[in-house]
Amino acid sequence: MLKRHQPLANIRVKTLWLFCGVLFVVFFLMSWSSYRVAQRSISQQIEHNSLPLTSDNVYSQIQRDLVQPTFVATLMAHDTFVRDWAMQATPSATPMQRYLAEIDQRFDTIIAFFVRDADRRLYLPDAAEHIIDATSHRYDWYEKVKALPENKPYLVTVGMDPERQGQMDIFIDHKVYDYQHRFIGVTGVGLSVEQVHQLLARYEQRYQRRIYFVDRQGKVVLSGQRFEGEDSLQAMPGMATIAAQLLSAPSGSYHFESGGHKTYVNARLVPEFDWYLVVEEHQAASLQAVFKTFLINVAIAGLITLMVLGISLATQGRYQRKLAAQASVDPLTLALNRRSGQELHRLMLDECNQQSQPLSVLVLDVDHFKQVNDQYGHEAGDTVLKDMVQEIKQHVRESDAICRWGGEEFLVLLNGCDLTQALSLAERIRTGMSAHRFTFKGQAFYITLSGGVAQNGPKEPLEEVVKRADAALYLAKENGRNQIQTGAA
Ligand code: GH3
Ligand code: MG
Ligand code: MG
Repeated sequence: MLKRHQPLANIRVKTLWLFCGVLFVVFFLMSWSSYRVAQRSISQQIEHNSLPLTSDNVYSQIQRDLVQPTFVATLMAHDTFVRDWAMQATPSATPMQRYLAEIDQRFDTIIAFFVRDADRRLYLPDAAEHIIDATSHRYDWYEKVKALPENKPYLVTVGMDPERQGQMDIFIDHKVYDYQHRFIGVTGVGLSVEQVHQLLARYEQRYQRRIYFVDRQGKVVLSGQRFEGEDSLQAMPGMATIAAQLLSAPSGSYHFESGGHKTYVNARLVPEFDWYLVVEEHQAASLQAVFKTFLINVAIAGLITLMVLGISLATQGRYQRKLAAQASVDPLTLALNRRSGQELHRLMLDECNQQSQPLSVLVLDVDHFKQVNDQYGHEAGDTVLKDMVQEIKQHVRESDAICRWGGEEFLVLLNGCDLTQALSLAERIRTGMSAHRFTFKGQAFYITLSGGVAQNGPKEPLEEVVKRADAALYLAKENGRNQIQTGAA
């Protein structure tokens, strides 16, 4: 009989799968959209906040560490001692050497120097003096500084230290004028590139970004440790697309894509050096965490969907079984209802026919039940009906069926019982029931049953056999009740 519900159950399971599929897709789309939002906000955060901020930080530290030497150079160039000394016809080297040594010591530079243009002599803190030889490329820088326009009194260059072979230094070369604004020499200080390298490396470590300097032409002049090869913006893949734009503005935020990855760039001109400070960040690193979160979200969504599916399937199964059970029993007495009694009868008759076993039908009816209701109330009547089913159960087997046929009338299908056996069983039920003492609200009462039995013919439909049993019941009632009668075959 449950078979009838099967297709419906299948549809329900299919709907459930569909629902869970939709649920998962919704979860997935939600996770995806929040991933996209996070991605976008991270991009904006990098481009407009964190990267410029790093650039500001680095810039202000660079300002402190690198720009200070330019002040020192400016100070030296305007020092009256330096100018007075240079303007002498034949100055003694010692005071200048002492002065330069003093500067070195005070400002922690690696070298302080002065070139007197009159005799093209290079003075250093120690006793050594060098002649600036116009034919040597080694002193090209001097000609360059000398040729600087009026409005640009100094130049920052990165070059070989003339004193320390193979060492790169940063030099700040400042023009020196006399009091009539005539060019009389060049002074300045040198810093170790290594120091700046370390400085940049430290910033890179701290901010997890690539930091370097390029000159106005885009050539990389100074970099930290994250640098791989390319020596100009134009030579860097992707960067080349924004190089011209970057080099034409004093500062700006840019981004480019290369190899499927977005790179954010912040650049600003350091006017004292005429270099651009460039800070780069790759999107991939910061997005990895967000992508991981996205994957975790999808996994959780999948798990929740599976849980919902599992719970739904389990509860649906239980609910359906309960519905099916509810549909087949009488809620008051928990005996089978009329419809399931009819279905079960068909199955039982088939089975009995196959096994050549008899099947008998017993109809039981409470005598004067109306009076019970009238005298003790409807609730008392209900108790009688429930107890009656319990009483019948005690006399029949598991394989027999008790069914509420209507009102206070019950049908009992007796598997493997012929008329005689059914009659004696009915008698036992009747006597058992008549001995049953009911008490309701302090009042005790007894009831009796009347019954009719008929043996089912092999092909006889239920209506027919019930009709015969009913006739026997009618006879029992007629004969004074509290008795069982058998129906004619
Ligand atoms: P008889 O001996 O001829 O069978 O008399 P009776 O009073 O038992 O028969 P009748 O058919 O006149 O009355 C049956 C009564 O059973 C009427 C109805 O109110 C009552 N009844 C039917 N179903 C229920 C029920 O579920 N609970 C209760 N308490 N009473 C019920
Ligand atoms: Mg009755
Ligand atoms: Mg009746």
